[in-house]
Amino acid sequence: MNIGVVWFRQDLRLEDNPALAQACKQCDSVLCVFIDDPLDQTVSQLGEASRVWLHHSLKALDDSLKKKGNALVCLQGESLAVLQMLISDTGASRIFWNRCYDPVTIERDKQIKTALKECEPSTSNGMLIFEPWENLKGDGTPYRVYTPFWRAAAKQLDERQNLLAPVPTPRTIPAVDTAISGALSGAKPLDALGYLPDKAWPAQMMSHWQVGEAAAKKKLVVFLKGAVTDYDEGRNLPGQTGTSQLSPHLHFGEISPRNVIAKLANGRALAELEGGEETFAKEIVWREFAYCLIFHYPHTIDSPLDKRFERFEWAEDTGEHLRRWQQGLTGVPIVDAGMRELYATGWMHNRVRMIVASYLIKNLLVPWQSGEVWFRDTLVDADLASNAMGWQWTAGSGADAAPFFRVFNPVLQGEKFDKQGDYVRRWVPELSTVTNKYVHKPWELSGAEKQALDYPEPLVDLKETRVRALDAFAKLKGTK
Ligand SMILES: Cc1cc2nc3c(=O)[nH]c(=O)nc-3n(C[C@H](O)[C@H](O)[C@H](O)COP(=O)(O)OP(=O)(O)OC[C@H]3O[C@@H](n4cnc5c(N)ncnc54)[C@H](O)[C@@H]3O)c2cc1C
Repeated sequence: MNIGVVWFRQDLRLEDNPALAQACKQCDSVLCVFIDDPLDQTVSQLGEASRVWLHHSLKALDDSLKKKGNALVCLQGESLAVLQMLISDTGASRIFWNRCYDPVTIERDKQIKTALKECEPSTSNGMLIFEPWENLKGDGTPYRVYTPFWRAAAKQLDERQNLLAPVPTPRTIPAVDTAISGALSGAKPLDALGYLPDKAWPAQMMSHWQVGEAAAKKKLVVFLKGAVTDYDEGRNLPGQTGTSQLSPHLHFGEISPRNVIAKLANGRALAELEGGEETFAKEIVWREFAYCLIFHYPHTIDSPLDKRFERFEWAEDTGEHLRRWQQGLTGVPIVDAGMRELYATGWMHNRVRMIVASYLIKNLLVPWQSGEVWFRDTLVDADLASNAMGWQWTAGSGADAAPFFRVFNPVLQGEKFDKQGDYVRRWVPELSTVTNKYVHKPWELSGAEKQALDYPEPLVDLKETRVRALDAFAKLKGTK
């Protein structure tokens, strides 16, 4: 009896899961496991919101496996030790997993691969369309500018159709004998992993979401039938559901990016996509760009890619400002709306992510790493690669970044992208009766209306702090 272990990580699905498909093909029975490893950066760097999502996602995976006559075994401990114990308990002869690309996991997995070589570890790409080394410049170095990265990616996708051929869901996933699986030392119920804090907010946050592979597929279908058409414009309007909201599903691998692009293209070449469809394909490929960056420049998780920024003079004693930003109490409506949306739902619209990040970095001069850490703790889609790239993009220190001197004006951004103030009023109810004219700048109200307002005055002056940021940048460039 040839037993194969499938080690699930950020691939919590059955369809287009190469590790699972191979195990089903090559082994008589398959043991599906998840390990809660305190050293596993894909888990231990998870913030509270992500841990809640992970709990529900593992539950959904277990349900899907049960429908196939199998089940998910949850274990806790250092991955290598747990896998060795598993192999000795079950007599498993093979092990399969899909690769992760953050530096700590790569290093840990390398050691496991060597230590378990008698089980011929088989690793696959289940997380990305391209391996980080598959879409490089002609001279073999990584792209640092997005447009040529996208062009080369789209060309490859049109030339290598196999890149977009999702692996079908295995028809059967034969379970190991219950005498073996029932006697596993260390198997734990999912609840015992402790991902769900005993507090009220997880239920409130998760009321905004359906978790798991089936929900992700349904969401994609709905998006492709509707909002994708107007995505070019809709993706900038935080008051509408103009984006797919697939990010947490993609992060935890409930759906693969290959599947998303394949369903979007629906047999067409990428070169044939136009308007919203083309822009959406480009966004999915931004995620690939982020993984390429983290793989080739692993230090960029918490250090600037542009080394000049190591000398940047941030403000001193930023604790109170950071706290007010986190709480959505800066007195700048669109910033506060974004931060409160984040806290309530575990997600924030991309346009608003850029605005709140710019405000923290440039108006408050708080180091971008503090914002990155807060996002990592509170986002359900928190992702080392995309988060670091998003923060460095805003700070001007990353690849293809917005120049530092482009300081978003949150009032103008609000007036442009939330014209009627619907988004701000939804998340900042203190402003629900303020007219459109003042909803993005309530400090300009006067008289009784101002008196009646129960909303903070702006934490800082937007114009003065813009000048302060530009001065700091000029010093960095040596022009001041
Ligand atoms: C400061 C900052 C931090 C961010 N942190 C994260 C993060 O931790 N995790 C995360 O997934 N995204 C992050 N993003 C990128 C982006 O904001 C989200 O991917 C997007 O808002 C998710 O919503 P959606 O699924 O509706 O996106 P859609 O617009 O529907 O896009 C589809 C998918 O494309 C990918 N994508 C879209 N935009 C980007 C982008 N700029 N970079 C990388 N991938 C992208 C995502 O996987 C997304 O789900 C960050 C952006 C900024 C500015």
